Amino acid sequence: MSANRGRDTGPEIALRQALWEMGIRGYRLHLGGVPGRPDITFTREKTVVFVHGCFWHRCPHCRLPLPKTHTDWWRAKFEANQRRDKEKARLLREAGWQVLTLWECEVKRSETSSASRVKELLNQVRQGQGLRVDAVP
Ligand SMILES: [Zn+2]
Repeated sequence: MSANRGRDTGPEIALRQALWEMGIRGYRLHLGGVPGRPDITFTREKTVVFVHGCFWHRCPHCRLPLPKTHTDWWRAKFEANQRRDKEKARLLREAGWQVLTLWECEVKRSETSSASRVKELLNQVRQGQGLRVDAVP
């Protein structure tokens, strides 16, 4: 679980609270049997949400510098994390899932607007538009 900083991280909890306040419920957490055990899974809408930590998953907005020591080790580690993230998203999409990736910094900036993005995606799915919303870099 090195790439995933474990369950119930701060941004994940903040997002769940915002979803709750918007009346969005009925999702499952870290559901087994879904590729990548996404942070949040809406089984009925076949939609998953990942909340990615900016450091471990190399957020494109933050562009955090590589650690100054053991740089090669870190680079390899981060590349493996990013590969794994892409692979998970690919497997999910191939299996017909909608994949929304939210970054820690986005959620911290505004958990309400992050939750709104989840809501919009769910609405699109419910309306049968099946639009692919893909925030994976
Ligand atoms: Zn970030």
